[in-house]
Amino acid sequence: MTNPTITQAKIVGLPALDDNYIWILIQGKHTLVIDPGASAPVINWCRANNRQPTAILLTHTHHDHIDGIADLLETYGNTLPIYAHSEAQLNFAFNAISPEQTLTFDDINLSVILLAGHTPDHIGFYWASEQALFCGDSLFTGGCGRLFNGGTAAQMTETLAKIAALPLTTAIYCAHEYTLANLRFALRVEPDNTDTQQRLTTAKALRAAGIATVPSLLSEECATNPFLRTHLPAVAVAIEHWWKAQTDNPIERFAQLRAWKNQLDATGVLEQDE
Ligand SMILES: [Zn+2]
Repeated sequence: MTNPTITQAKIVGLPALDDNYIWILIQGKHTLVIDPGASAPVINWCRANNRQPTAILLTHTHHDHIDGIADLLETYGNTLPIYAHSEAQLNFAFNAISPEQTLTFDDINLSVILLAGHTPDHIGFYWASEQALFCGDSLFTGGCGRLFNGGTAAQMTETLAKIAALPLTTAIYCAHEYTLANLRFALRVEPDNTDTQQRLTTAKALRAAGIATVPSLLSEECATNPFLRTHLPAVAVAIEHWWKAQTDNPIERFAQLRAWKNQLDATGVLEQDE
């Protein structure tokens, strides 16, 4: 199988596992696979489109982002290169990348950005020419990732600020379909935010039709995602009201918002409409 030349860049999302997305980047002879948590969706798509993966890129090494790798190496050969953070714990040989370097695959130039917090060595890939950010489990559509493996609130606060500083037209390609639960939470934080109300209505219709709500635009996130809005008085007051504790520290405020969402996630109350 060869990779026919495609001049126009393309991004394809493959649903995998319960709610993951594997992103495929295609241009020229390259077919890059980001976070293959399963192999079958990738293999099936490649077969149907007469393509072959040319590299695997990892944002982090949680199992739902890497469990398809062994099968892909078996199918496409052990020479299929894997790119991951130099500190990544992985049972495969990989090309160690460091944040703030650029990965080049002919016409595809990806800036590596450290997006720590979900894990301490979580990275993202920013494809400037396509205005696309592949951000794994850092920023989610309507929300953000939890803190695992020693990732800290300070790291996630910095990560969210980094993403917010990208062009507002950036498309946010996160790794999970969590939009509905995230927006239900967003409305508990800001019940009067009409952008959020509207976005939830649209997202519900998309999901009912089996359509992905990812990617979103960074501009939408800035208007509706509470984790990008902790600097605003309405959000700060809501957090203060929930915890009956006031703070002016942005890291503490993020931690309070994250803890609020964790508390509601544990009850399952965000999984359905009230
Ligand atoms: Zn993860």
